[in-house]
Amino acid sequence: MYLKRLEVTGFKSFAAPLEVDFHKGVTSIVGPNGSGKSNVSDGIRWVLGEQSAKKLRGAKMEDVIFAGSDSRKKVNIAEVSLILDNEDGYMASEYSEISLTRRLYRTGESEYFINRKACRRKDIVDLLIDSGLGKEAYSMIGQGEVEQVLSSKPEDRRAMFEDAAGVLKYKSRKQESEKKLHETMDNLNRVQDILHELG
Ligand code: ATP
Repeated sequence: MYLKRLEVTGFKSFAAPLEVDFHKGVTSIVGPNGSGKSNVSDGIRWVLGEQSAKKLRGAKMEDVIFAGSDSRKKVNIAEVSLILDNEDGYMASEYSEISLTRRLYRTGESEYFINRKACRRKDIVDLLIDSGLGKEAYSMIGQGEVEQVLSSKPEDRRAMFEDAAGVLKYKSRKQESEKKLHETMDNLNRVQDILHELG
């Protein structure tokens, strides 16, 4: 599985539709200061489910929508798609190519799509949690995050390795199972009380 293409329109500095093809191996993006290099990685982060405007270097989520420039009017919709090659079946999907799309309207309404079919944000997050590509999976390392790894406490560092190794999904499933177990124990106690009263 690898990131094959990024399609962006109306997102941050990219008013016009833009397609970035990534080939196998290392890709670097170069350009003058302020030309939009970081906006490319912000776009990827956004589709992966980022909910924090601050992490996308804005004050509010609306700031990801192209706000206009000297030569271009502002737009009202931002849309970013990630196209993943899944020929090796690494992602839990029957498709050999998976597109994930996030769209935001200036009215605040959001839309999400998997292979152009409308879905919930949770569907994208669930699909990604098993792939090691999720927004918490350290598949994207932002400026300043390297420093954070080096300066954090051993326990915090362990948590980061656990997240990166994909332990996170087992932890959340364990929590869900423990909750269900507690609820079942409560129900059993209630049944035993009733049986006691009847007997
Ligand atoms: P540097 O090398 O300095 O880190 P960069 O190439 O990474 O720069 P970015 O930070 O990606 O550049 O892009 C910043 C540019 O994006 C700024 O010119 C900013 O005005 C523009 N920009 C960000 N959000 C929007 C928006 N919503 N509408 C229009 N332009 C935007």
